[in-house]
Amino acid sequence: MATVNEERLMDGKTGKWEIVIGLEVHAQVTSNSKLFSGAATAFGAEPNSQVSLVDAAMPGMLPVINKYCVEQAVRTGLGLEAQINLVSVFDRKNYFYPDLPQGYQISQFTQPIVGKGKLTIDLADGTSREIGITRLHLEQDAGKSIHDLHPKMTMIDLNRSGVALMEIVSEPDMRSAEEAGAYVKKLRSILRYLGTCDGNMEEGSLRADVNVSVRKPGERFGTRCEIKNVNSIRFVQQAVEAEARRQIDLIEEGGEVKQQTRLFDPTRGETRPMRSKEEAHDYRYFPDPDLLPLELDPTWVENIKQGLPELPDVKKARFVSDYGLSPYDAGVLSADMASAAFYETVAKGRDPKIASNWLTGELFAVLNKQNLTIEQSPVSAGALGGLIDLIADNTISGRIAKDVFAEMVETGKLAKDIVAAKGLQQITDTGPIEAAADQIIASSPDNVAKYKAGNEKLIGWFVGQVMKATGGKANPGVVNEILKKKLSA
Ligand code: ADP
Ligand code: MG
Repeated sequence: MATVNEERLMDGKTGKWEIVIGLEVHAQVTSNSKLFSGAATAFGAEPNSQVSLVDAAMPGMLPVINKYCVEQAVRTGLGLEAQINLVSVFDRKNYFYPDLPQGYQISQFTQPIVGKGKLTIDLADGTSREIGITRLHLEQDAGKSIHDLHPKMTMIDLNRSGVALMEIVSEPDMRSAEEAGAYVKKLRSILRYLGTCDGNMEEGSLRADVNVSVRKPGERFGTRCEIKNVNSIRFVQQAVEAEARRQIDLIEEGGEVKQQTRLFDPTRGETRPMRSKEEAHDYRYFPDPDLLPLELDPTWVENIKQGLPELPDVKKARFVSDYGLSPYDAGVLSADMASAAFYETVAKGRDPKIASNWLTGELFAVLNKQNLTIEQSPVSAGALGGLIDLIADNTISGRIAKDVFAEMVETGKLAKDIVAAKGLQQITDTGPIEAAADQIIASSPDNVAKYKAGNEKLIGWFVGQVMKATGGKANPGVVNEILKKKLSA
């Protein structure tokens, strides 16, 4: 990195420090069956109910590669604008652990299926940065040890054993907790667009190993520590902050950072050691003799490329250029495919900025509050469009529209039906507006005098009073016009 962004530096007693971060993200491949067996992968199934003889490592069982999982990895690589390696190799990564019945994990080491790529992160100050992707490889997940079901024994659930994972490794290109969070956010968004990982961090479908080191700006990279298995974006950010702070304090007190694997404890907000480099496993990788090198047909890869959806960055740029949205709103609306589709349905044939305001404002507030996804929205895209149409053709005012929207959320009724049933149509007929205006003018001689003496801002107060008197149903433009005429008479 040639330039140092001062604002992203962290303070220490001896001056400013730069944080360096690289992430290794494990993403569970969206697939009904496992990487080398036909067993199911559904989340939350009865323990050990989705385990084939291959997953349980019965003697003589042979792995058979799942073509769909390979396709998903290739699709992901293409979505990250990465090199697709037409020949890759599966290796055995050897270690002993009770939830790993084979005694090794099938992974890819020297020749992964996907090589260098990149991803653009979006930051709160409106800027974007490119982060390098080092590689993506396919590997099997292990089973799960359950320590709290029996006082003396550990239980093993092999449902996850053999489930396909993509390990996506970034370059050490990130420089702050915010950037690390933005990276996971964008990666998750791309995976969901591609349909290659559901990105569900609470269910463990996406988890990150966070590598952190610190240095004085301009110096060489410091020694890194790796914080294992962080399972939310907020925790990734907190882990970076806590670990960088720990390393800075340690160095400034004359200590030295030792390469370690650590764990983040969210309740205490600190990282603690798990194992040191000396205790690190020697995995004795070697090519798995049960599996041939994986060879991909370039035409097959090209077909997958042709089938890719429009991805978030491209969609965001299109929302800015086609609809005139701010980059921020365009980013919010394109972050997930369903919101983007919802938006485009509402915006079609309507004012795109008004449509965007209704989504990012009112609708998202309701979804957030009720903890709903856009697919579960109590107001459909068509129904929201209908409401916006009533404002556009002056049937109702923007103020009344907010009340109508609240009732749509609550009852599921259409805007036009609510407006008709409650008689909320805007009063454009000048009669009642004139009457209300006359009454306000007659009862507030002080303000009339002030207005006539030159305090023109008071027109707002008069408009407010008339709006109030008409239950908010008067057309504000008409009210303004009538009042000005009467007050200057
Ligand atoms: P290993 O294979 O031993 O895990 P890698 O060199 O592949 O090591 O790096 C793993 C991760 O650590 C990558 O995401 C990389 O970007 C990151 N990383 C490497 N060096 C540093 C460093 N000095 N500070 C922070 N992250 C680093
Ligand atoms: Mg590693």
